[in-house]
Amino acid sequence: MKKDISLIEARERAGRLRKVIEKYRYAYHVEDRSLVSDSALDSLKKELFDLEEAYPELVTPDSPTQRIGGKPLESFKKARHEKPMISFNDAFSEDDMKDWIERVENYLKDDVSPNFYCELKIDGLAIELEYENGVFVRGSTRGDGVTGEDVTQNLKTVEAIPLRINDQGLKIKVSKRLIVRGEVFLTTKEFERINRELAKKGEKVYANPRNLAAGSIRQLDPKIMAERKLDSFAYAIVTDLGQRKHHEEHEILKEFGFKTNEHNKLVRSMKEVFVFRNYWEKHREKLAYEIDGVVVAVDDNDIFERAGIVGKAPRAAMAYKFSPKEATTKVLSIEVQVGRTGVLTPVARLSPVLVGGVTVSNSTLHNYDEIARLGLKIGDTVVVTRAGDVIPKITRVLKELRVGKEKDFQMPKRCPIDNSQIVIEGALYRCSNPQCGARLRELLYHFVSRGAFDIRGLGMKIIDRFLDEGLITDAADIFNLKEVDIAVLERFGEKSAENIISEIAEKRRVSLRRFIYALGILHVGEETAQLIAREISNSKFLISKPTHILHILQNFSLEGLQKIPDVGPKVAESIYGWFHEKRNVGLLERLEKAGVKIQNSDAVSGEQGRLTDKSFVFTGSLESISRDDAKDMVRKLGGDVSESVSKKVDCLVAGSLPGLKYEKAVKLGVKIISEKEFLRMIG
Ligand SMILES: [Zn+2]
Repeated sequence: MKKDISLIEARERAGRLRKVIEKYRYAYHVEDRSLVSDSALDSLKKELFDLEEAYPELVTPDSPTQRIGGKPLESFKKARHEKPMISFNDAFSEDDMKDWIERVENYLKDDVSPNFYCELKIDGLAIELEYENGVFVRGSTRGDGVTGEDVTQNLKTVEAIPLRINDQGLKIKVSKRLIVRGEVFLTTKEFERINRELAKKGEKVYANPRNLAAGSIRQLDPKIMAERKLDSFAYAIVTDLGQRKHHEEHEILKEFGFKTNEHNKLVRSMKEVFVFRNYWEKHREKLAYEIDGVVVAVDDNDIFERAGIVGKAPRAAMAYKFSPKEATTKVLSIEVQVGRTGVLTPVARLSPVLVGGVTVSNSTLHNYDEIARLGLKIGDTVVVTRAGDVIPKITRVLKELRVGKEKDFQMPKRCPIDNSQIVIEGALYRCSNPQCGARLRELLYHFVSRGAFDIRGLGMKIIDRFLDEGLITDAADIFNLKEVDIAVLERFGEKSAENIISEIAEKRRVSLRRFIYALGILHVGEETAQLIAREISNSKFLISKPTHILHILQNFSLEGLQKIPDVGPKVAESIYGWFHEKRNVGLLERLEKAGVKIQNSDAVSGEQGRLTDKSFVFTGSLESISRDDAKDMVRKLGGDVSESVSKKVDCLVAGSLPGLKYEKAVKLGVKIISEKEFLRMIG
């Protein structure tokens, strides 16, 4: 090695280089910001490496060059832990968690502080890191909890682990000897990269990031470990630095230059624990690494210590696991849905089961070939998988659980909607009536339209999309949609999925008039729907459910129907026919099951419901009535009051000196009435 600078110069330069490399490491791994490009950083490391090679006396154990990996080992030395490294007991439900905290309180004969520290439970390997005078001297695996293996060389290659602790300017100083606990893990991306390369070389690939991380950390040749970019989070300080709360340990660790998990959170009640856990169960796929639950610990270290150990785990902490991504359940039936283009799709109705955090009760089978491929029969026990944000899927049939009562499934010969002949096109079964799918689509457009259920978020394009994806096959399915169903579709974010679902939930309650209109009965427009609504709400029966309407209208004869104002023989026949068709009866039942409720049915008739579903906006000052009183009147009569003018508004009431709302109403063609007209309207 050419020595082109003196030892003194080299020592000074090396010192500076180490400082600046450490600064960049800290920014990148701890603060998550990149101050310099990877190649620039590599170039700095290379310079330091060359200096240390020219002057070996300059090498320090905490030098960044030590991360490259030393000589291969013959074997690992044993490393005894000063305090045993324990694991956690598992909880799977909110009840488990409530029981747990009750047990802790019973044991302590005392109330536990309601503060909990919640951490993401990363699928990695627990490690212990030992520092002397701030310099990393030994790292070890958990082993059996008492004795692990000394993997110092390998852990030095992990950039997220500081080789020297910098406590300059900090309130808490690093002790002479410091023991820190944490974990090493692989990001999903790095896991995939390494597996790809292993596969290319014809070597065995690993089943999951955890196995690969474990395999790497136990490599006797640190160079292999250095090529695999393992990551690390620190989560506990074993040494007493005066910390009173567990969350303080995380703060100190971060200040010391360790990487801590930014998503960890101090919460103040068990309810917040549940919120934290449920949030991450839903959003886990967004993380760069895999998690399988959250770790919840009583934040107060004193309580934690007093609670002690039960079995091999601390009494005051719990691993609260996510529900599994795979579960088994039974196929209750296989139903056939007709899509927008008339294609028949078989769908398995399942006994409801929790998979990946959502309750799954049906799963599309796509086409008949899929059923044949799975060898699926009705009544079979199946494995349902929901990997990531993906729609649940039947992946396996457990044929060994058959009892002999399972039934083969046959695709129908006739369309379940209009009884037309079915034609087979390759793997596809299609209704021969080209109008069949289109009619369904029209009915759905109508169902969500303004005068009907008025679900604005469900435009035609979205309905088409949902039909194509097999998410909906009739109006009742709209109310069974789940956020996960939508969020996984391309171009739908989680936010828009959330908006649609919350709007649908809101519109689940509907007036009788809107409900009847929404059914799309031939010749029954908004006016007629209103008249029918009035007629049947005058009957002495309470109407709050879709089947109530069914029972009332099924009892009407054709002649009886014609007694309703405006209903002639043609309309009566159409209504009569509709309510006596099996498929429509089924739809009403499914709507009811999906939670559709008929609202203020009594208010629809007579005085009370005069303004039902009408929305009003007020502008300018009213003379004979206060604005608040006017609004109250509207609401009493079943109407809505809105603050701003939109196309949705039925009527603008303009007092004297009307404002901008007036101009907007003119522009949008909203009906404008004077105060006098308004008073006449409300009587
Ligand atoms: Zn058909």
